[in-house]
Order: sequence, then C-alpha cells, then structure tokens
Amino acid sequence: MRLNINVNIFLIIIVAAGFSMSSLSYWFIIKAEEKSLLIEFQRDVDERAASMYREILVNFEVLQSLSILFHKGTVPELTRFQKEATKIIGRHSGIQALEWIPRVTQSERLLHESKIRKYFPGYMISERHKQGVMAKAEEREEYFPVYYVEPLDGNEAALGFDLASNPRRLQALLNARDKGLAQATASITLVQEREKKKGFLIFLPIYNGNSTTIEQRREELVGFVLGVFNVGDIFISSALSKIVQGIDMAVVDNTFSNEPEILFTYQSHAGLIQKEISYRKELPEIWGRKWLITASPTSSYTAVRQSIYPQLTFTAGIVLTILIVLYIKILARREISIKRIVREKTKALKEANNKLSELSRTDALTGIANRRVMDEFLNREWSRAIRNKSKISFILIDIDYFKNYNDNYGHPSGDECLRKVAKKINSLVNRPGDLMARYGGEEFAIILSDTRNAEMIAGSSRESIEHLQIPHNFSEVSNYVTISVGICTVIPEVGSDSSLIISTADKALYKAKQNGRNKVEKGYLNFNVKDANNNFIE
Ligand code: GH3
Ligand code: MG
Ligand code: MG
Repeated sequence: MRLNINVNIFLIIIVAAGFSMSSLSYWFIIKAEEKSLLIEFQRDVDERAASMYREILVNFEVLQSLSILFHKGTVPELTRFQKEATKIIGRHSGIQALEWIPRVTQSERLLHESKIRKYFPGYMISERHKQGVMAKAEEREEYFPVYYVEPLDGNEAALGFDLASNPRRLQALLNARDKGLAQATASITLVQEREKKKGFLIFLPIYNGNSTTIEQRREELVGFVLGVFNVGDIFISSALSKIVQGIDMAVVDNTFSNEPEILFTYQSHAGLIQKEISYRKELPEIWGRKWLITASPTSSYTAVRQSIYPQLTFTAGIVLTILIVLYIKILARREISIKRIVREKTKALKEANNKLSELSRTDALTGIANRRVMDEFLNREWSRAIRNKSKISFILIDIDYFKNYNDNYGHPSGDECLRKVAKKINSLVNRPGDLMARYGGEEFAIILSDTRNAEMIAGSSRESIEHLQIPHNFSEVSNYVTISVGICTVIPEVGSDSSLIISTADKALYKAKQNGRNKVEKGYLNFNVKDANNNFIE
C-alpha cells in the first residue's frame, strides 16, 4: 500500500515533468521558427524594396535622357519630342506620360499660345475650376502650361493646363526650380487612369546655361521635363524574376511622417493577412520624397515556413512519458509481487524455524523437554538461586527393571511405557519455575525452584506411577512398573557448578536402587547447611 502511494507520487511527478518538458520544447521550437520566419520575411521585404528603388532610379534616368533634347535650354520641335518620348514610353510601362512644361511669363502668353495652335488649334493656357471644368487661366506673372504631351491620346485635356494653378504641383515645381534637382509631387490621382490609380509627377528643371544660385536658377529657368508615373506600375515592374509569394505590401509616401499617404497596395491574395507580423522598410530619399514599403505576410507565407517539428516533438515527449509511466508501473507491479513472494517465503521460513526450534527443544518420543533444554534451564535456575540465595531441587527418576520390560514386552511396548510414565509425572510438574525433562534412556529429571517441596513431588511421582498399574511381570519388586527416585535440594554456593546437584541426585538414585527400588532417596551436598548434631538442614 505504502509502496503504491510512493509509486503514484513518483508517477505524477514524471507525468508533470514529461508534460512540461514537452510543452517547453514545443514552445521553444515555435519561438525559434517564428524568429527565423521573421528574419526571412524581413529579408524578402528588403529585397523587394531594393528592387523597387532600382526601378525608380531607372525611371529617373529615363527622364534625364529625355532632358538631353533640351540641351542648354533649347526647346526641340514637337515632332522630335514626340518621337523620343514614344520610344521611351514603349520601353517603360511605369511611365504614363512625358511632357514639356515651359515657363511662360505674362507678356509671352499670347505669343506662346499662338505658336502651338498650328498643331493644336484650341490650345490655351487653362486652369481647372471648382466644378472640374477647364477654363482660361487667370492672369498671373508666370505660367507653367502643359505644352508637349506624349502620348496625346487620352491626355488632350491636359494640354495647356497650367501647373501653377494647382498647389501640389506648383510646390514641387518651385522646389525643383530652386534646387536645380528633379522633384516629385505628392501623390496625385492620375487623370489618365480610369481606376483612379495613384501616381506622381517628376519635374526636371531645364535652365538656360549654368545656374548655381537660386537667383540664377529663377532667372534662367526655361521649363521642366515632366514625367507622369504610376506607382503601382513601377512596383509591379520592379519585381525581380523571383517573386516571393504571399506578402501583402503597401507603398507609402512618408515625406510628412504625420500624414503618411498610401500610394499603392499590393495584395497577394494568398490567405489571411498576419497583421501581428509587420515590417516597414524605408527607401532612400529621392526627388524630395521619402517613401517606404510596409509589409505583412499572409497565412500561406507563414504556413509553408512552419514545420511540424513542434507538434512532433510535443507528441514524442508525451509518448515517451507514457512509455516511462507504463514501464515504471510494470516494474512496480513486479516489485509488489516479488515482495509478496518474499513475505510469504519469510513467513513459511519463520514457521519452519519455529517448528524446528520446538522440535530441537522437545524429546521426540515423549513430547516433554529434552536434555539440552534441561541443561539450559538448570544453569539459569542455578545462577538465579546463587543470586537470590534461594533453594533449588533436582529429582532424578529411573524406571525399575526396564531392560527386562523391553526384553519381554518388546521395544515398542517399552516406548509406550516411557510415554505413559513421562505423561503422568509431567502432569504433576506444572508451575512456571518447574521443569520436567527426559534425562536419557528411561531416566527423567525434574528441576524445582525455591519454594517447592521436592520430597513431596518425588513421593507423589513414585506413587502415581505405581498406581498407573502398568503390568510388569518381570520386575523383581512389583507386578507393575515402578520407579526409583533420587533427590537433591540445595542453596548453591557462589562459584559452584550445577553438575554437582545432578551427581548428588544420581547418587541418591543409586541408593534408592540399592535399597530395593520403588523408593525415594535424598542426597546431600557438602555445602548444604548442617545443624548442631552435624545433620544437614533443608
Ligand atoms: P534397574 O532397575 O537397575 O534400572 O534395571 P534396568 O533394567 O532398568 O537397567 P538399565 O537402567 O541398565 O536398563 C535400561 C534399559 O532401558 C536398557 C534399554 O533397553 C532401555 N531403554 C533405554 N532407552 C529406551 C528407549 O528409548 N525405548 C525403549 N523401549 N527402551 C529403552
Ligand atoms: Mg537406567
Ligand atoms: Mg532402569
């Protein structure tokens, strides 16, 4: 039972430990996989951002190559511009349109308008009114009208449109002029697109000669080469041959970080978006704008990068725990059964030992104490008598003419006679301090402690055997079995040996035989106390 409780506690500990170890391994592997997934994800986004940036640079170079036509401020003919621009647009899908925007002062306005009317009869410098209607631009110092536009198809409405009339465009335009660098507008909704995609314009300023200061630039500005770009197209065409599937991204204009503007969102349609994992990668500043790419993976992206190792490890841990538990249970059961067997065997052994010791202490024939027990008992009582200065008595009994009995009635009858005699005398000796034993052959001994009257017991023993009336026709003293008895009673001296009392009783027995058998005789030891007449006192 106790063993069971201990084993059960042990098993509970093992199960708890097994479960926690399995869960921990599961958790660690999950975390490690998440970490490597994050690293891979960021690397994919970084790559994507880098290719997007490269594509933007390519588009910028395109614009620059077009600006060569305006070398030192000379404006090419419309047809030359158209030819070059058509070529470029054919090669770059991210470009919606290429335009030439001249600077026109108030005084030049009329001349400027009339010049282009040979190609476009309705041309005028215009602006957009609130209702979206294009109308003649109001008078101002400077105009920046769309003068050449390629392709013209779909962009007719843009012709003559004064960019200075629109604050977003004007701001980028003036920035470009003052810095002498290409500048992009904030996102604009492209008029060319039906789906209203987000785009932006890049202005590349053209000067009349070398201009190094702001004043010079303002003075010598001829106009702008303008590119209309579609953010989505640039993003899409920037994808390298290896497109990583399953990442949703957005291109964000973060020039003013307090009001970021989403320019383009790319949805991979590859499962649920995993919003808890997100990453933003800033592109280097270009054309005065700070763009960044934000990205989150979808479930299909994460799914292919998650292994079954966490589940596998967990399951293996649990299975192992179960196996250990089963194994321990088997061991415990085996131990219990072994212990039971040992217990049973020990019990049987104990019983056998008890029996053996019982046997070794009793006389096989008569069932009374044997000689060995008698010797031990005598020694013990002898010592006690010395300590207590008390009396001890030894009675020695011998069956008369027993040889004759054997010879005539047979040995088995002799044995039966011995049993009867032993039983009878033993029934007289029943107090705790007394012992009757088989002394040898047909001789018995009685040891009596302290208060007992040895003479009386010896006498009643002799009488009781005679009264048994076991027929003995070959005895010379009676027709029945009789016994002769020798007694010795003494207060033993310190240092004396117990064998003295036996030999003295033996001598008394001899005397009883001599005196005709069926008698009780007393023997005396030299340290028995004597009275004034030199007689022994008992
Ligand atoms: P006495 O009166 O002088 O004692 O004569 P006795 O014949 O008894 O002489 P003794 O003591 O010499 O004889 C003992 C006999 O007891 C001898 C032996 O045959 C017999 N005897 C001893 N042990 C046993 C026993 O275990 N069983 C039987 N049946 N006889 C025994
Ligand atoms: Mg004898
Ligand atoms: Mg005898």
